[in-house]
Amino acid sequence: MPTRYLCLDCGRPEARTKLPHRQLCLGCRRRRHYHPAECPTCHQLRPLAYPGPDGATTICAGCAGLPSIFACVECGREDHPYSYTRCARCWLRKHLIAILTDPRTGQLHPELVPVFDALLAGKRPQTTLTWLTKPGSVAAEVLHQFASGGLPIRHAGKEGDDICLQRHLELRRA
Ligand SMILES: [Zn+2]
Ligand SMILES: [Zn+2]
Ligand SMILES: [Zn+2]
Repeated sequence: MPTRYLCLDCGRPEARTKLPHRQLCLGCRRRRHYHPAECPTCHQLRPLAYPGPDGATTICAGCAGLPSIFACVECGREDHPYSYTRCARCWLRKHLIAILTDPRTGQLHPELVPVFDALLAGKRPQTTLTWLTKPGSVAAEVLHQFASGGLPIRHAGKEGDDICLQRHLELRRA
């Protein structure tokens, strides 16, 4: 088999991800995605896999002027790798929409929109995803109970204080 069909990094023949010069196997594509490095051309921290103009360096897709093999199919960004197709932020958005949608209206629960925004804006969407999906975590269920009316978002009583939601979100830091 000609070298160009073998994985650039490990030499395995199952190299399906096409680069301009070579191909990468799934594992090596993933490793490069999860280990961004400073691109010698733009000096940004990016996943590198493209041949530089001098042939000796490896540069980012942007500097190579090519669509990135690392880009999320939804938002097009290369950061926060999570799955083959989508970044952690896009998975997190999907999860949060599912959890915080009020089944009675089919819309995000209006009182939970700030929660949606805050959780999505976190610096590490992957950590938030883990928090929502790890076995034994009650966070997603509790949030969904708020969204669907199973739990009151605020205590009836003294206005503005003692918000149940806030207390449940403390679980996150525990
Ligand atoms: Zn490989
Ligand atoms: Zn670059
Ligand atoms: Zn994305």
